[in-house]
Amino acid sequence: MSRLQQTDGLTEEQTELIKLVREFVDEQIIPVAMELEHKDEYPQAIVDGMKEMGIFGLMIPEEYGGLGESLLTYALCVEEIARGWMSVSGIINTHFIVAYMVLQHGTEEQKQHYLPKMATGEIRGAFSMSEPGCGSDVAAIKTKAVKGDDGEWSITGQKMWLTNGGSANLVAVLVKTDTGADSVYKNMTTFLVDKESGFGETAQGVTVPGKIDKMGYKGVDTTELIFDGHRTTDAQILGGEPGKGFYQMMDGVEVGRVNVAARGCGVARRAFELGVSYAQQRETFGKKIVDHQAVLFRLADMAVKVEAAHEMMVKAARKKDSGQRNDLEAGMAKYLASEYCSQVVEDSFRIHGGYGYSKEYEIERLYREAPMLLIGEGTADIQRMIIGRRLVEDYKLKA
Ligand SMILES: Cc1cc2nc3c(=O)[nH]c(=O)nc-3n(C[C@H](O)[C@H](O)[C@H](O)COP(=O)(O)OP(=O)(O)OC[C@H]3O[C@@H](n4cnc5c(N)ncnc54)[C@H](O)[C@@H]3O)c2cc1C
Repeated sequence: MSRLQQTDGLTEEQTELIKLVREFVDEQIIPVAMELEHKDEYPQAIVDGMKEMGIFGLMIPEEYGGLGESLLTYALCVEEIARGWMSVSGIINTHFIVAYMVLQHGTEEQKQHYLPKMATGEIRGAFSMSEPGCGSDVAAIKTKAVKGDDGEWSITGQKMWLTNGGSANLVAVLVKTDTGADSVYKNMTTFLVDKESGFGETAQGVTVPGKIDKMGYKGVDTTELIFDGHRTTDAQILGGEPGKGFYQMMDGVEVGRVNVAARGCGVARRAFELGVSYAQQRETFGKKIVDHQAVLFRLADMAVKVEAAHEMMVKAARKKDSGQRNDLEAGMAKYLASEYCSQVVEDSFRIHGGYGYSKEYEIERLYREAPMLLIGEGTADIQRMIIGRRLVEDYKLKA
């Protein structure tokens, strides 16, 4: 096994589970990823395999039918899965965020209703904040829910960039609810929207127009979502009360950032593996290219980044698991892991010479996938804003 990305202090159970996932990745994901990705085909057999392993319920407590594992275990599994194919980790990511939000913020009724079926993968979650006009500036959302005299809500507006927007049958969606609160942040609410999986009108007043055609991150569907007078009730508000949606979403994003960091770690490790392998096969000027110091140094730099990102990601996950706020660490981990991932992938691409540009080589796919990590769950510059602000709070000069 690779000497990189080893994690100290794991229990026997965690070690076993991660080994199982690694074997699944080597046997069931890596051999088919390239072909499925080129066809932009949904990896149904892989998803079925993950359902059987209980991956969809990894962090859902045992009382609701899940495995009750920690964020760290989850992140280490995601790291392995992303090493095989980043899109597969995308399929579980939004599901995991929604399950986490229901667990942390849902009413007992919502937990009883959703979590057991989410644990088996029967209900699959998508997470929706972004709109055509805004992503980073969450408070600028326009999709609105209005309560009628009959006590029912009506949701109208357009959402954008829903990972798993077509395949999911539950969407946690952030909308404006002008209930007269003094702050814009308290005028936002998360609704749990049940829908059919698929495209077209998938619930009353809820349309998924089709898949967005992307440069990478293929296989997993990314969609728009249009609400046109979707009728719903208080019972579908996460936690039962309006006005808490922004904070609930930010909590979800915080664990999502650890998850994106884990994906960056997995993709970077794969890029390193591909680079170090190619460098020992290709010959130029009478020797293997790995024996040219420039290539060896490039590999060394890549490995340092692979290792550093993993350590930072593990730290962020452990902090959340210990019950502490981890916004700073999650922001740092996401920022570092996604930037390093891009750089390691670029370096591996260069090691491959012209062949890196050929679709016959896996690195070509990684090269199109890595940029997504710089954007999703908050862009790199948004992470820098979060990190900077937290540190200025922490290091505030005493008057
Ligand atoms: C493949 C994919 C999947 C996605 N999946 C989901 C999903 O499942 N659910 C969901 O809700 N969203 C999803 N998103 C949306 C994603 O979260 C947003 O794209 C992201 O938050 C950036 O928002 P934006 O695209 O509107 O860019 P903008 O917010 O318009 O930003 C544009 C540029 O301006 C910079 N910028 C913006 N504000 C500032 C500032 N204050 N200071 C400095 N720089 C700034 C940004 O860093 C960026 O470089 C997905 C996106 C992609 C590409």
